[in-house]
Amino acid sequence: PVRVALRDVTVRWPGATTPAVDRVSLDLEPGEVVVLEGPSGAGKSTLVDALVRFVEHEGSYTLDGVEARTMHPDAVRARVGLVEQDPFVFDQSVRQNLLFARETATDAELTGVLDRVGLGQWVERRGGLDAPVGERGGLLSGGQAHRLALARALLHAFPVLVLDEPTADVDADLGDAVLRDLVGAARQDGRTVLVVSHVPVPADLVDRTVRMRDGRIVADGAGHRTR
Ligand code: ADP
Ligand code: ADP
Repeated sequence: PVRVALRDVTVRWPGATTPAVDRVSLDLEPGEVVVLEGPSGAGKSTLVDALVRFVEHEGSYTLDGVEARTMHPDAVRARVGLVEQDPFVFDQSVRQNLLFARETATDAELTGVLDRVGLGQWVERRGGLDAPVGERGGLLSGGQAHRLALARALLHAFPVLVLDEPTADVDADLGDAVLRDLVGAARQDGRTVLVVSHVPVPADLVDRTVRMRDGRIVADGAGHRTR
């Protein structure tokens, strides 16, 4: 489990008159599931870019007390996993998509992680781990592509997982079910989870809701989940 601490983090895009992220302070305790909400343009994606070290920031961002900017970017990304809004899925088998950037895993590990994200039966029906997923995951629905990307992230055991708009490409009614499965699967093993969403997330799914607006955190309150 990894502790994330941001203190007065500011990110400025070149040419912008105001910072996209403006003196944000945020703690993610090990094992905590936090949703980052806010309207489009609030700065959520920019904050995620800072967390995975795609952009430079001012202020302090530490992982277990170590300044992220003093760490190699790959070392940060090994700790903070990102399941992108447009999940990265490529035209090979389920197995190859899961193993991406990892040497090996047993079939039992692979099917175990697929079961956890609710893809086990789909994969079985299509003939198993060597079934194709199609070009850009074309044989998968949006929710399934997200599940596959999450399965890969779970297999890689990132201690901190960021789920960026996990329901963006899923119907609203389906969205809650997908989110419930994704968060439930990610919550196991004491991972720290940050769900980024421009739509409200059911409060019972999360420990805490943080709201952003105009680059600032405007609310940081308890969730309603009963442990
Ligand atoms: P959100 O994810 O909450 O919709 P963003 O972080 O995407 O918010 O946007 C915050 C601000 O940063 C906006 O003004 C947006 O135009 C700007 N911005 C986001 N990404 C970039 C980028 N790659 N280059 C320049 N400006 C950007
Ligand atoms: P880039 O080449 O643009 O920096 P990356 O190679 O870091 O991109 O990541 C490409 C995709 O691979 C990402 O969308 C992410 O989902 C996935 N990814 C990155 N690193 C890992 C990893 N260590 N394990 C599993 N998936 C990863």
